[in-house]
Amino acid sequence: RSLNGRTAIVTGAGSGIGRAIAIRLAEDTAKVAIWDINAAGAEETARMIRDAGGTAIAIDADCSDKAAIKAAADRTRAELGPVAILVNNAGIAPFTPFLDIDDDLFDKVIRINLRGPYLMTKEVLPDMLAAGWGRVINITSSSVQSGSFAQGHYVSSKGGLMGMTKALGLEYAASGVTFNMVPPGFIDTPMLRAAPIDADAFAQTLPMKRIGQPEDIAAACAYLASEEASYITGQTISTNGGRYMG
Ligand code: NAD
Repeated sequence: RSLNGRTAIVTGAGSGIGRAIAIRLAEDTAKVAIWDINAAGAEETARMIRDAGGTAIAIDADCSDKAAIKAAADRTRAELGPVAILVNNAGIAPFTPFLDIDDDLFDKVIRINLRGPYLMTKEVLPDMLAAGWGRVINITSSSVQSGSFAQGHYVSSKGGLMGMTKALGLEYAASGVTFNMVPPGFIDTPMLRAAPIDADAFAQTLPMKRIGQPEDIAAACAYLASEEASYITGQTISTNGGRYMG
């Protein structure tokens, strides 16, 4: 389980799934930079990690903004060292019937959920290539398999991120840097509770009869970040309680 004190960035780690991933990577000895536009949430995650004896810093950063990413990456390197692990988790998930999606909203969802991970990866991949070791883990969505009502923008963005994961997994396969993805099913977070879905009723339709916990996603990420996953790239760990198989 040891991540050997490597430096990790988890975006959107001021809440929900990102917070659980940050805590888990810190338990596994990573030094974790918690990036979020929710500065209070990021501080809270960092405090939770430090209280448990881990190493974490909180950075108020918009992970879709190139200049903000550069500044936050410089601070991360200065305080924690070169970046070895990147988890692109930050995202937004509005519900909008397709004909009501205005062009600006479509662009916003793509900017945060797809262009953000693209910019993040470009910023930190040189650190990983220089070290000959790296892990990029993209949080996609099971909705790429199932579709999702009134989420044409969101599912498009996550499908794009899935494609980017495979393309880069192939391009960098021989470099020591792996690219994998974790598509959550229904996970109990503020995002899910804000959705127009009765999560508890929906849980009864799932093979495991429960919605997932953020820690379920964190466990898959911890494995992909570890030494043990070194022969795995361009792959998917579907963490959805058995909703889709294969
Ligand atoms: P959440 O809303 O609880 O947390 C998302 C975090 O991302 C928030 O803290 C938010 O402030 C941050 N964020 C949003 N835009 C940002 C930006 N531009 N820069 C920096 N931070 C930003 O949601 P969650 O449920 O924890 O979702 C985490 C990821 O998991 C998302 O990518 C989401 O699409 C994906 N996901 C979640 C579920 C689920 O059931 N909860 C299912 C499938 C996929």
